[in-house]
Amino acid sequence: MTPTLPFRVGHGFDLHRLEPGLKLVVGGCPIEHDRGCAAHSDGDVVYHAVTDAILGALGQEDIGQLFPDDDPRWKGADSSVFLAEAARRMHTAGYRVGNLDVTVVLQRPRLSPHKKTIVSNLARLLGCDPRQVNIKGKTHERVDAIGQGQAIACHAVVLLIVADEK
Ligand code: MG
Repeated sequence: MTPTLPFRVGHGFDLHRLEPGLKLVVGGCPIEHDRGCAAHSDGDVVYHAVTDAILGALGQEDIGQLFPDDDPRWKGADSSVFLAEAARRMHTAGYRVGNLDVTVVLQRPRLSPHKKTIVSNLARLLGCDPRQVNIKGKTHERVDAIGQGQAIACHAVVLLIVADEK
């Protein structure tokens, strides 16, 4: 990592295929749907994108390098494990979350009933106030695979700021 900077910005992106008969978990929130994520872990695109945003801000290895998808330890894993590790690394490096902005791209179902739970899950794992976390849901206007309900994607941007000295 470069010498200590007062702020560090990071971006994360993730996408998973949606297939019938699987569970859909978004930001730690189980969502009732006729499809779910095909993935090695639980396929939580929000936790994966936010994990990569934080690791990216820190200039560290990405989620695929830290938690390879051919490692049996992570088969069916609750993705909060990945985000908790990114948060641990953030605190160790002397940073905390300034703010986090997340966009979930999902044709259906609607994300709005679950936003509050997702924000609260993220704030708890990152050790910040829920007001520092924002989440938006977008459809893909029925265009391409995401718009046809065959995939879910997520973009995340995070600003880390140097934690106050104790
Ligand atoms: Mg993923």
